[in-house]
Amino acid sequence: MTAPATAQPDSSGPGGPFTGLREWLDRLQASGRLAVAKPGISLEFELAAAAKRMDGQAATFFPKPSGHPIPVISGLLSNRRWMAEALAVEETELLRHFQEAVASPLPWREQASGPVHEVVHRDVDLAKLLPLPVHNERDSGPYITAGLLIARNPRTGVQNVTIHRLQLNAKDRLGVLMLPRHTMEFYRMATDAAEDLPVTIVIGVDPATLLSSQAIVPLDFDELTIAGALHGKPLDVVRSLTNEIRVPANAEISIEGRILAGVMEPEGPFGEFPQYYGERADQQVIKVEVVTHRSRPIFHTIVGGVGEHLLLGGIPREATLLAILQRAFPGVRDVHLSRGGVCRYHLYVQFDKKQDGEAKNVIVAALGAHYDIKHVYVVDRDVNIHDPAEVEWAVATRFQGDRDLVIVNEAQGSKLDPSTRAGVGTKLGFDATVPLNARGMRFERIRVPGEADVDLDTLFERAASTSWRWHLEAD
Ligand code: MN
Repeated sequence: MTAPATAQPDSSGPGGPFTGLREWLDRLQASGRLAVAKPGISLEFELAAAAKRMDGQAATFFPKPSGHPIPVISGLLSNRRWMAEALAVEETELLRHFQEAVASPLPWREQASGPVHEVVHRDVDLAKLLPLPVHNERDSGPYITAGLLIARNPRTGVQNVTIHRLQLNAKDRLGVLMLPRHTMEFYRMATDAAEDLPVTIVIGVDPATLLSSQAIVPLDFDELTIAGALHGKPLDVVRSLTNEIRVPANAEISIEGRILAGVMEPEGPFGEFPQYYGERADQQVIKVEVVTHRSRPIFHTIVGGVGEHLLLGGIPREATLLAILQRAFPGVRDVHLSRGGVCRYHLYVQFDKKQDGEAKNVIVAALGAHYDIKHVYVVDRDVNIHDPAEVEWAVATRFQGDRDLVIVNEAQGSKLDPSTRAGVGTKLGFDATVPLNARGMRFERIRVPGEADVDLDTLFERAASTSWRWHLEAD
């Protein structure tokens, strides 16, 4: 069944931010960063394996996965440089730019119809309609991992947008892991009134909308308005067919349904961002009413623990943490959630210390800023916090365990960190800054004058024509 739709081109201005997924795929392909697989690769493991092997090098495009007519893409934003490029800013401006968008959100603009509704399926069989992959060895089965779940506050009507992992439970039922986040708040409000919570899940959106879904903002802050600010123009939305939820008009696929009040079914295990399996437990269930999509849609999947997964959560967190810390400590210059710390648990802070002891205050503030943060490292401004080896060097040479370590026992942490007891564990802070009264050359970093300015191409003979032996024999 096909509904008429007005064409809305995914236009991106020259050099401007990418406002359409397909334009971003064009850019990736034109610059050699889109690997197109041979048709027919298996949805079970093979697709995830290939996507994971290409992580950080190229996004992947899989035509006819397991023979399904809808192609699958993965790894769209697998490093910081790509993210900055998609938003049309310098990499060093990424956090500030995102924070500005959060500070000046742009309301969306409603359209009568949009490409996402070009094809409508009311007879729902998710496994047939969509190419649902199985990623990890012990995953319970097929999952939707890149679905932006949109719900409305039952009291205020304000929308919330976030990604929850969605397990295929039956042909028209998805298990949803909500965790104590905004969707869960809305669900509680609905169930208190003995009602289901309507939701619409969209799959296949542009980079800015994807990133916006991960913003750390208060309840009743519609994340789609951040996407508008990042685009520099309001996001076009359309009303869902069976509920009041507005969805990006240019999304590839939408799934409309209701989170059923009081219904629980087993969900998990599933391979999560810390590179471990989230456990199997009873979780809420979405009854799907309608699936819509573009006439030739694309399905996006995020493989657990790859760059795309870690950075999508990491960049908005960094932006929020930087803003929070800078409010109290103007000397905080930059923050970084390291890849080894799964872009959640290890925070590096570059700090221009003006008072002795101040770095410890920064540590305490950072630990309080987000419960996921487990270990905080504060370093001086000469340390590049985007290079973990530099941070380790600062800890190795500027830190003493008896006076520079902060320990907070029995604090709330991430439930997905298997070393905690149901999320409760120990926080550590490492003050690896140089004491302000350090004398003379004691902490002076060695430096070879001119190192950075050496022009290697003119200085060294790159052609192998001259043997070193020749120089012994010459003149
Ligand atoms: Mn929210």
